[in-house]
Amino acid sequence: MALLPILQFPDPRLKIKASPVINFDAELDIIIKDMFDTMYEQQGIGLAATQVNIPLQIIVVDISTNKTEPMAMINPKIVTTIGSQLGLEGCLSFQGVYDKVTRAETIQVDFYNASGEKKSIKAHDLLSICIQHEMDHLEGITFYDHLSPLKQKRLRDKLEKIRRTAL
Ligand code: ZN
Repeated sequence: MALLPILQFPDPRLKIKASPVINFDAELDIIIKDMFDTMYEQQGIGLAATQVNIPLQIIVVDISTNKTEPMAMINPKIVTTIGSQLGLEGCLSFQGVYDKVTRAETIQVDFYNASGEKKSIKAHDLLSICIQHEMDHLEGITFYDHLSPLKQKRLRDKLEKIRRTAL
C-alpha cells in the first residue's frame, strides 16, 4: 500500500490541466491502486490524479459508506447533464473547509475503466456531484473556483486559521 502526498491549495500544480491516458498498462494499475489507498486513508469519497501531482485524466470515486463501490474513471467525458442541485462540498486539497456549490443533478459520463474498456454511466445526487468535482480537478479547477469572491475570502481565512492551529 502506497500513500501519495495530496497537494494542498493554493499549490499551483492544482491548476495543471491533465492529459489523456494513452497506455492502459501495469503502471496505470499501480497509480489507481495508490489513489484508492490514499483516498480511503483520508476518508475521501473522490480523488483526482491532479491532486497527487500526476497530470493524467484519472479519477477514483467511492461514495459508499463501507468502501465497497470503488470506481476508477479514465479519460472521463460528461456527455449529458440534466437539472441542477446545490450541495455542500469539501476537498482533500482544502482540508477542514466546506461550501455549497451548484452542480448538474444528473450526468451521463463516458469513460474507460482500468482495462481500457469503454464504459458509460448515469449518475445522480452525491455520485454526480463527486464525479463533477473530481473531473473539474482534471481541468485545473477546484470547488473554490465556483465560489463568489466573498466566499473565497471566507474560505481562505478559515483555511489559514485551521493551518495555524495545526502547527
Ligand atoms: Zn477536490
